[in-house]
Amino acid sequence: MIVLKFGGSSVDSAESIARVAGIARGLLERRLVVVVSAMAKTTRRLLEAAEAAAAGDREGALAAFDEIETFHRRESQGVVPPASRAALDAALDPFFNELRTQLDEIFSTRALTPRAADAVASCGELLASTILSFAFTHSGVDSAWVDCRRVIVTDHDFTRARPLYGPTDARLRETLLPLLRAGRVPVLGGYVGATLQGVTTTLGKEGSDFSAAIVGAALGAEEVLIWTDVDGMRTADPRLFPGARRIRTLSFAEALELSCSGAKKPHYGTLGPASRAGVPIRILDSRHPEAQGTVIGRRNPDAPPTIKSIACRSNAHLISARATGREENDGLLGGVFEICERFRPSLLVLEGRADGCELALDREDRLAEIHSSLLSGVGQSAELWVTRGRTVVSLVSEDLATHPELVERTLEAARDHDPRLVLKGVAAPAVRLLADDEDLPGLIARLHGELLAGGSEEVVE
Ligand code: ADP
Ligand code: MG
Repeated sequence: MIVLKFGGSSVDSAESIARVAGIARGLLERRLVVVVSAMAKTTRRLLEAAEAAAAGDREGALAAFDEIETFHRRESQGVVPPASRAALDAALDPFFNELRTQLDEIFSTRALTPRAADAVASCGELLASTILSFAFTHSGVDSAWVDCRRVIVTDHDFTRARPLYGPTDARLRETLLPLLRAGRVPVLGGYVGATLQGVTTTLGKEGSDFSAAIVGAALGAEEVLIWTDVDGMRTADPRLFPGARRIRTLSFAEALELSCSGAKKPHYGTLGPASRAGVPIRILDSRHPEAQGTVIGRRNPDAPPTIKSIACRSNAHLISARATGREENDGLLGGVFEICERFRPSLLVLEGRADGCELALDREDRLAEIHSSLLSGVGQSAELWVTRGRTVVSLVSEDLATHPELVERTLEAARDHDPRLVLKGVAAPAVRLLADDEDLPGLIARLHGELLAGGSEEVVE
């Protein structure tokens, strides 16, 4: 059994949905569960509608609502034959009704609570999964829509909820296994869950990859295939650096490091359940399904040691901590790592030294909260201060821990840019630099040229 996850760009129109149905049909023999994101840009538009309502802009909220409804109704009509259009429309009605009610309530209270934001945002995945399920059934894939709010059980931390694996795994197995045994393909929305009491939550931005890994781990899938708009993980973000090459294999630790360091693909939560259950993840291009993509979790033991990829986090603030006492510094670092774990992926360690450490944070809105956690956690033994406006560049590879010559080469390539070697084994498989935003394009081109240029080779092992 395998899990297929389709991102927003893979389901952005009737035509894309037809292509996705073709991919599923071609893989039917392997037995499938399908997880899908909201159709392109829907989540952002939904949240804009909610923000407009909270600001008292009723017309703005209704205009966004109409746009979302018109788009979904129009594209969905293209995925089923005329005789089934009324049934599909009727299946979408409850979600639009619910959304309307939510927006009215936000408008009348003039408040957008995290709980209300999740209720609104969840509509995107509920709509997309319903449409995809209909499209499958009409293209020869016998599918069963599953309400993700009944199977992904989370805590109450709205907008960034964490799954409660006990009840989630149990519900996934009891709901999905009978469907699979009956030869059907369960289709469910990603990103969305609900508390034990049934209140809708979300797993945080881009959380559909995470949902797919939760499902794959619970069912012991052979693989999770994440279908997106690039042909795999690349040696840098192809939007920033078009010359980036495809990476054939990554370890779970490298992929986690990349996603926490700004690559954002796959969602950082994905790697936890996948690595614990030993379920490899494959990143594939839904527009070129024949391409090989990247496998995460199965390293090629013969691959030569190399930096795998360069990731950037802009809008970073630097938090420095200097130990005040002369006593052992381990307590300070231990405390800092614990706090980083809590605020992952927004907070990461740049450098840990005997006399203090430096952290980068890319969430302005959480600065106060994180600062006060650090103060109460390690403030007794350290002085803390914040510097604004930097980009953190991370050069990622697990080979750094085992190949000192690779560390040397990397530090040499980065010599003009204040390289910080992250503590091996304690933190992350990466060398990090702090760059000025203006230097960034030139810096990435140079680092890529020195560490990742492959001549005619298009692929990094
Ligand atoms: P989806 O809608 O399928 O979830 P996303 O837009 O969230 O897709 O993620 C895919 C995007 O991730 C790519 O288009 C690419 O710009 C970006 N990305 C950032 N860093 C990398 C990287 N190292 N390798 C591949 N893609 C990357
Ligand atoms: Mg995405």
